[in-house]
Amino acid sequence: MSPMIEFTHCVSRRARQLKLSLKSDGTVVVTTPPLVPKFMVRKFVESHQDWISTHQAKLQAHHKKANPWQVAIFGQSYPVTIITSAHAATKVQVVNAQLQVTLRTPPTKANQTLTEATGQPFPTAAKTAIEAFLKRTAEKYLLPRTHQLAKTMHITYGRITLREQKSRWGSCSSQGNLNFNWRLVHHPPAVIDYVIVHELAHRREMNHSRAFWTIVKQYDPAYAEHQGWLKRRGLNLS
Ligand SMILES: [Zn+2]
Repeated sequence: MSPMIEFTHCVSRRARQLKLSLKSDGTVVVTTPPLVPKFMVRKFVESHQDWISTHQAKLQAHHKKANPWQVAIFGQSYPVTIITSAHAATKVQVVNAQLQVTLRTPPTKANQTLTEATGQPFPTAAKTAIEAFLKRTAEKYLLPRTHQLAKTMHITYGRITLREQKSRWGSCSSQGNLNFNWRLVHHPPAVIDYVIVHELAHRREMNHSRAFWTIVKQYDPAYAEHQGWLKRRGLNLS
């Protein structure tokens, strides 16, 4: 037998039926209309065990802090090496399958090589430099690639904006402007292409109808797999 699931029971006069939700800490909440017997509430929770564990796992993955010493670029993970220097300007580059950050520091902290193995805290300045690098890299890929795919699909668009949106990989406005999350740069090119194709397809169909998915499938036959990849990473696409 599976262990009893803990839950909080909320009674609401406005509730029409039994409703299950999770708080951000993973606590299960059941909202019911008044006078629903306790055994029915419990039965309801137990019948949704799979939903609860799937979503609790998702929340946990979301809260787990990313390791700053490993940076994924286009689906490949690169270990970070930080070299401190009193003279060189701060810069980020990929060298020998590593993400190398040259960090300008005061002379007292210069001439050090920091890696995950050396155990120092990750410098904030290095994080900022890496983010700027990732954003530039995202831009270098997304802009020409969108242009190319739009041409193939015979679709036009307005402006492209890159942002870090907490909840979205991309969006398309009714004016035809596209918006992409620069954090897409962490994912394999095929997954990024799916997001571009998805947003461009919205230029024809501003919905997720069958006609919409037919367009997406035409230009990305493996779209379901790519969509699954992003879904497992928690953000939505609209
Ligand atoms: Zn969409």
